[in-house]
Amino acid sequence: MTLDAKIPGGRLTQKWDRHRFELKLVNPANKRKYNIIVVGTGLAGGSASAALAELGYDVKTFCVQDSPRRAHSIAAQGGINAAKNYPNDGDSIWRLFYDTVKGGDFRAREANVYRLAQISNLIIDHCVAQGIPFARDYGGLLANRSFGGAQVTRTFYARGQTGQQLLLGAYSALSRQVAAGKVKLFSRREMLDLVVVNGQARGIVVRNLINGDIERHDAHAVVLCTGGYGNVFFLSTNAMASNVTAAFRAYKKGAYFANPCFAQIHPTCIPVHGTYQSKLTLMSESLRNDGRVWVPKDPGDKRPPSQIPASERSYFLEEKYPSFGNLVPRDVASRNAKEQCDMGKGVGDTGLAVFLDFADAIKRDTRAVIEKKYGNLFQMYEKITGQDPYQTPMMIYPAVHYTMGGLWVDYNLMSAVDGLFVLGEANFSDHGANRLGASALMQGLADGYFILPYTIGGYLAGTNLPAINADHPAFKEAEQHVQSRLNTLLAVDGKRTVDDFHRKLGSIMWEYCGMARNNEGLEKARSLIQSLRAEFWENVRVPGIDKDFNQSLERAGRVADFLEFGELVIIDALARQESCGGHFNEAFQTDENEARRDDENFCHVAVWEFTGDDKAPRFHQEPLVFENVELTQRSYK
Ligand SMILES: Cc1cc2nc3c(=O)[nH]c(=O)nc-3n(C[C@H](O)[C@H](O)[C@H](O)COP(=O)(O)OP(=O)(O)OC[C@H]3O[C@@H](n4cnc5c(N)ncnc54)[C@H](O)[C@@H]3O)c2cc1C
Repeated sequence: MTLDAKIPGGRLTQKWDRHRFELKLVNPANKRKYNIIVVGTGLAGGSASAALAELGYDVKTFCVQDSPRRAHSIAAQGGINAAKNYPNDGDSIWRLFYDTVKGGDFRAREANVYRLAQISNLIIDHCVAQGIPFARDYGGLLANRSFGGAQVTRTFYARGQTGQQLLLGAYSALSRQVAAGKVKLFSRREMLDLVVVNGQARGIVVRNLINGDIERHDAHAVVLCTGGYGNVFFLSTNAMASNVTAAFRAYKKGAYFANPCFAQIHPTCIPVHGTYQSKLTLMSESLRNDGRVWVPKDPGDKRPPSQIPASERSYFLEEKYPSFGNLVPRDVASRNAKEQCDMGKGVGDTGLAVFLDFADAIKRDTRAVIEKKYGNLFQMYEKITGQDPYQTPMMIYPAVHYTMGGLWVDYNLMSAVDGLFVLGEANFSDHGANRLGASALMQGLADGYFILPYTIGGYLAGTNLPAINADHPAFKEAEQHVQSRLNTLLAVDGKRTVDDFHRKLGSIMWEYCGMARNNEGLEKARSLIQSLRAEFWENVRVPGIDKDFNQSLERAGRVADFLEFGELVIIDALARQESCGGHFNEAFQTDENEARRDDENFCHVAVWEFTGDDKAPRFHQEPLVFENVELTQRSYK
C-alpha cells in the first residue's frame, strides 16, 4: 500500500478552503441514512459526535467511563491556543503555524499544521457561543496568557480548568443531540475490536463493562477518538483509564501506527514520592508564566530554599535561554531539569526535583493576583504534598504527559483502513516530535468540530458501501476473537497481579526510552519487554469471571496490549537514528546538549504496519516536504 497523505495542491494558505470546496457533499436529506460510530467522548469524540449529529447523521457514541464527562480531557488545566492576536503583540495564523512546526522540531506536516492554526480562531468563537467561561480582562475581552515555545500571548483559559469547561461545552452539545435522538450513547463500553469488511471499517465489538456482555455494532464509518497511550509508561499524568487498546486493535486490523516513540515529557509535575504510587500530577505549564525555575548552584546543597540566597541559585532556564526563559518548550525544559539533577543539584529527598518559585511574582503582583490566576493549582499542590506554595517553592520534575505518535491518518483524518477516521490525541497528526502547550485541546476540537464533519462527508458521498449488518461473518469472527482472548486471560490463573506487570513495563520504558535513550539501552529494553510479555501470559493473575463487572479483567486486556505496543515504541526509537523534539537519542546531540536532527535521512513520518503476531512490523515512511518554512536547528536563546 502506498502512503498517500492526500494533501491538496495549491498555496498553503488556500489548501483547506480549496479542499472543502472539492470534497463531495452528502445531501441533507441523505445524511440520516448514514450511521457513524464514534469511540471516545473526550474533546475530540464529544465534539465530533455533536457536530455529526447536528448535521443530521445518526451517531452511536461509546466510552469506557460512566459518563462522557469523565473523559481524560476533563483534566486539562492550562489553556487552548488560538491566533486571535487580542493582546496585539504580533500574533497571526502564520506565526502560530510557524511556532507549532518549529516546536515539533520539523517533524509535522506543514499543511495539517497550517489548517490547525487557521481553525484555532473558529474554535474560540464556537466555544464562546456555547458559553464556555473563558477568563476575561477588566474591559470584558477574553484574556490570554503565555505558554511554552511562543513569544506571544495566545492561550485562552478558564482558570486551571480549561479542559473541564471545554468538555462541559462539548458534552452539552452532545446531550442536545442525545435528547434529539440523533446520538445513541453507550457508556461503560470498551471497544475491543474493529470490524473490517471488504477493506472498509464497518463496525466494532465492545464489552459491556457492567455485565461483561459482548456486543456488535455496525456502521458506515468508524471514528476513533480514544486518546493517548502515555500510560504505557505506567506513571504518567494521564487518567488511569487512558490506554492504547482501541488504537492497537485497529492497528492489528490494518491501520498503521505513526511515530510511536514520540512521547512528551512535561517538565512541571509533582515528583514521584513512593514505590506504590500509581499516578503523577501535572502542575500546569501556565505556572511558568510567573514561577521561576531554579536549583542551588552547588551540587548537594540541601539547605531549605529560604536559606539559599539569590547569588547561590542557578535560574538555569533564564540563564541558558534568555529570549524564552522559563517558557522554553517542554522537551527543552525537561531535558535541562534532568541535566541539573544528573549534576547533583536536584532538590528534595530524592534529588530528582527542581524548584518552581513564585516569591518574586507574589512580591511583584500580590498574593491575591497569583491566587486568582492559579488558586486551584496551588490548592492541589498543597493537598498532595502538604506544602504551601505561597510560602515555599513548589518542587517539580518531568513526567510522561502526552503522546504525539498515534494512528497514521491522511489530511482527511482517515487511517490506512478506509472508513476508519482517527481524531485527537489518538492520531499522530499535527505535533511532530514535540507538542507545544495548549495545542492538544486546539487539535482535538479542530478535528471534531471543524475537520471531520467535512471530510467524512467526502468519504461517504464518494464510496460504495454495501448494505451489511452485525450478523455478517466478520462481526462473528471478531466477537469470537475477543471472547477467546478474555477466556485466555482468565485461564492463566498465575501469581502476579496485572498492576505488577504494568509497573514493571513502565519502569523499563522510563529507564530506557524516557527522557534520554541510547541504542544499547533500547536493545536491552526490547528483550526485557519480550520476557515480561512471555511471563505475563504464563503468570498473570486475573480473578473473577468475564460476565460480570471485573476491573482486573479490563486492566489485564489493556496491559496485554501495552506489553506488545511497548515493543513497537522501542522498535520505532531504534529506527530513528537522530534526536528530535521529545525523542532524544544521546548519540545525536549538539555541543550544548540540544537534540540534533538528521534531516537528510529522517525527515519523515515513521509508519508501522502490523504483519502478524510475533512478526516484525513492516516499516513505511511518509516523507515530510517543507515548502514554506526553512528547516533550522531549533534555538530558544
Ligand atoms: C493533566 C493534564 C493536563 C493537560 N492540560 C492541557 C492543556 O491545558 N491544554 C492542552 O491543549 N492540552 C492539555 N492536556 C492534553 C489534553 O488534555 C489531551 O491531549 C486531550 O484532552 C485528549 O483528548 P481526546 O479527546 O483525544 O482524548 P481523551 O480525553 O483521552 O478521551 C478518550 C476517550 O476515549 C474513550 N476510550 C478510550 N479507550 C476506549 C475504548 N477501548 N473503548 C471505548 N472508549 C474508549 C474514553 O472513555 C474517553 O472518552 C493535558 C493533559 C493532561 C494529562
